[in-house]
Amino acid sequence: MAGGVPMDLYAYTIVSDVCEGIGDCIAVCPVECISWAEGKTNAKGTAFAFIDGETCISCRGCLNACPIEGAILDEWHPELQLV
Ligand code: SF4
Ligand code: SF4
Repeated sequence: MAGGVPMDLYAYTIVSDVCEGIGDCIAVCPVECISWAEGKTNAKGTAFAFIDGETCISCRGCLNACPIEGAILDEWHPELQLV
């Protein structure tokens, strides 16, 4: 468990330290399960977003929209979301 989040969800992940805080993913998510990590910055010094894995429906919309290779994974890895 990471922060009380279940590890076995069928959901996508935003890799906090790869995300560049562009936000295209937030705009396209049909279930509004992507949020900014308020007040936090990643290893690149940018804002980053994270996915609520319990709400994500694995539709791939965010992955298609994100311009940063490797920022979004089509698997659930909560240990890579630094929230
Ligand atoms: S995951 Fe991609 S689209 Fe979403 S905020 Fe990060 S860099 Fe931007
Ligand atoms: S896969 Fe779909 S539901 Fe899940 S975070 Fe991305 S856009 Fe939202």
